[in-house]
Amino acid sequence: MASQTHQPHFLLVPLMSQSHLIPFTEMAKLLASNGVSVTIVLTPLNAARFNKVIDQAKALNLKIHFHLLPFPCAEAGLPEGCENMDTLPSPEYQHLFFAASNMLKEPIEKWLSELETVPTCIVSDLCLPWTSNVASKFKIPRVVLHTISCFSLLCSHNIIHSKVHESVTSMSKPFVVPDLPDTVEFTKAQLPEVMKQDSGAWKHAIDQFKKAELSAEGVLVNSFEELESMYVRGYEKVVRKVWCIGPLSLHSKLMLERCRIVDNKVSMDKSECLNFLSSNKPCSVVYVCFGSLCHILASQLKELALGLEASSHPFIWVIGKNDCSQELEEWLKNFEERNRGRGVIIRGWAPQVEILSHPATGGFLSHCGWNSTLEAISAGVPIITWPLTAEQFFNEKHIVQVLKIGARIGVEAVDDLMQTYKAGKMLVKKEQVKKAIEELMEQGGKGEQRRNRAREVKQMAHKAVQDDGSSALNCKLFIQQFLGQLPN
Ligand code: UDP
Repeated sequence: MASQTHQPHFLLVPLMSQSHLIPFTEMAKLLASNGVSVTIVLTPLNAARFNKVIDQAKALNLKIHFHLLPFPCAEAGLPEGCENMDTLPSPEYQHLFFAASNMLKEPIEKWLSELETVPTCIVSDLCLPWTSNVASKFKIPRVVLHTISCFSLLCSHNIIHSKVHESVTSMSKPFVVPDLPDTVEFTKAQLPEVMKQDSGAWKHAIDQFKKAELSAEGVLVNSFEELESMYVRGYEKVVRKVWCIGPLSLHSKLMLERCRIVDNKVSMDKSECLNFLSSNKPCSVVYVCFGSLCHILASQLKELALGLEASSHPFIWVIGKNDCSQELEEWLKNFEERNRGRGVIIRGWAPQVEILSHPATGGFLSHCGWNSTLEAISAGVPIITWPLTAEQFFNEKHIVQVLKIGARIGVEAVDDLMQTYKAGKMLVKKEQVKKAIEELMEQGGKGEQRRNRAREVKQMAHKAVQDDGSSALNCKLFIQQFLGQLPN
């Protein structure tokens, strides 16, 4: 059996999904810039997307390595090449994807057993609970990196723990989440599907995630203390230790030019997109993007398009590669013609952080994924909230009620990806889109208040990642805990 090493070496094991790989890669850069050597477990197609990270790391003498493992697509019943959640043909394949992810345990154990010295610490994904067995087997301390906020973690924990929702019979009747620093209400309809189930495969998976999280030495959170200090304190009572080290995208930006995906299909050159922004007035453009995973039906996208057109603002609208259907493309021809010069559509992958950071961007219509939320916070851009699934309704509440940097579009119920996909529900009407944009972009009044508040929160985020900031210090403390001394 391999022995423990004195050379600090952190092993990162992410879920192969963009919203996990991006913060994990940024975490790798942060750790390496603090003097430790880092290995990230990746599969070949995912590694190809992040190759530039390695090139940049090498150029800066940062010690970041990829350990490549084949993703067992065929063994799990997935089509060949489905190595990332955004490559799944439809959300119905998710359980096979998780099955394939679980099969990575054996090759990782084999690799570790062949090493002369094992890593100092494993930083693993919440969604890979088997990493807890790997860590115990090789006697390696393990922590979980959360890609969601302490607000969401605490809401979710307190609801599940108290079972407060179980006695609520109506889906639309609000209930108060117990033991939170603020009075926060949800309806049952807004809770992630899995929280409403008492049995089944997903419920079992979530129980495993929680067990593995509680057995870890602590959790790293891609958030910062000043953003949600009471929620951080609250979550510290649930797990052994919390280190808020974000926004990871900001650390990254400070350290080296952020580099992202290289092979995602992009219809528009980055400079063209930034030129469009530069041709517009400060804070005038609405950026619209639903993250890396959402499947939205063509009928809903057309309604959104009409809402964008009806509003008086320039826009950049990202249509995910899963949603670029022939039907939609046909319909978009006229739409693009009518809106030439005023709006642009990016098909596939957009340089989101750069767009949000541009002075012309004045609002973000978002599905409220946590990475997107934190990127908007870091850029000081207020948000129109259109949550769809998972913990996105928690993020909406955080954005609108607690942080006061957003306006709701008015979605009332979780639209589990699979339900939308199958049932073709229409969620949001064009009038709602127009109204929400006008509300958010309002000059003076509440619009101005939100913008000012967003600027304040941005300042706090930038402070947190400076050398003496809370997140930079937490990162050092985290490393110190596993080394017994600060790295050089
Ligand atoms: N993203 C991007 N360009 C796109 C779509 C997404 O850069 O066109 C990035 C975005 O900046 C964020 C991540 O993908 O870092 C999406 O994560 P989030 O948690 O917001 O949503 P999810 O993809 O999990 O739904």
